[in-house]
Amino acid sequence: MKIKKLETFTKTYVSFVKTTLEDGSVGYGQMSTYHADITAQIFHKQVAPWVLGKSWHDFSDIENWILEKEHKFPGSYLLRAIAGLDTSLWDLRGKLEEKPVTLLIGGSTGALKVYGSSMKRDITAMDEANRFNKLFHEKGIGAFKYRIGSECGRGVDEWEGRTEDIVKTINISLDNSVKKLVDANSCFSSEQAIEIGKLLEDNNVIHFEEPCPYWESEQTKEVTNALSIDVAGGEQDCDLRIWRDMVERKIVNIFQPDVMYLGGLTRTLQVAKIIEEGGFICTPHSANLSLVTICTMHLLKAIPNAGPYLELSIEDEDYYPWQQKLFLDNPFLVENGCVTVSEKPGWGIDINPDWINSAEYQVSEFK
Ligand SMILES: [Mg+2]
Repeated sequence: MKIKKLETFTKTYVSFVKTTLEDGSVGYGQMSTYHADITAQIFHKQVAPWVLGKSWHDFSDIENWILEKEHKFPGSYLLRAIAGLDTSLWDLRGKLEEKPVTLLIGGSTGALKVYGSSMKRDITAMDEANRFNKLFHEKGIGAFKYRIGSECGRGVDEWEGRTEDIVKTINISLDNSVKKLVDANSCFSSEQAIEIGKLLEDNNVIHFEEPCPYWESEQTKEVTNALSIDVAGGEQDCDLRIWRDMVERKIVNIFQPDVMYLGGLTRTLQVAKIIEEGGFICTPHSANLSLVTICTMHLLKAIPNAGPYLELSIEDEDYYPWQQKLFLDNPFLVENGCVTVSEKPGWGIDINPDWINSAEYQVSEFK
């Protein structure tokens, strides 16, 4: 059975992929978010031509074939585009076998604990504490991640004193049972990060993400070695050689692959295996409410070294308007601090037809 047609439905931030086989079977996936309009061009120019007319069954082989044929472009954009193909093929296989993707990879459906993930730095310590408390009481969310430093900030805080203020305020404002995580998004030097790490330890933070510029792995390793709390990282990395190296050199304690940046579920399963063989926990990066979080839900229910919770963005229409109304119903509904992995086949979601109808359409077809 061959791949006959690849269609994309694109807006600036999101692009969905519809893959159709010769017999009319269909699966839906998504490319990675942000500059999805550029990624969709790459999809039709550098992915589709190598795939159309090819047998669909061996996902690794198809994707390696694309990477080999496009070996002069071994980077992020090509993988972001391949993620659209890969996730559509998993959906298709799930629908053909009438199973949710998590069952296809050895997992189970049902409840999955989340941590509420803040994307805001332009928020005061008190406002952040208040919204975490509201989500704790109303939805039972028992873990939260907030931002410290500034993004790739060369050691400079978002505003003077914000990091110290928010770390202390969150600690005294939340229920003692709430787990506290922070993300520095590559802000600090190792010396700074170790000093801030002590402040985090004193204020019951358990997870220090991307303390140093992520490409400076030796700096990150110094922080990991110096602190007793977990240091986390890996979300930007999409080259398997880097993954093997990071795990082998024990750069962090918690590894965070992103399903969409990596090129889809197939390659993420390979990375999760590398992490597992290194003896580490895998807590993937899934920082918005598009298909990346759905895929991560199915993944976490299946891998043996899954971290204790799913990253679930707590941002709403005011901050991330583009992630609204992508799906029918609400696949991210939280009850008692958990989302639910659906028993429906494939990814178990329905993309909103209104969104599809208002998106830019492109097609590549096997003649
Ligand atoms: Mg992060």
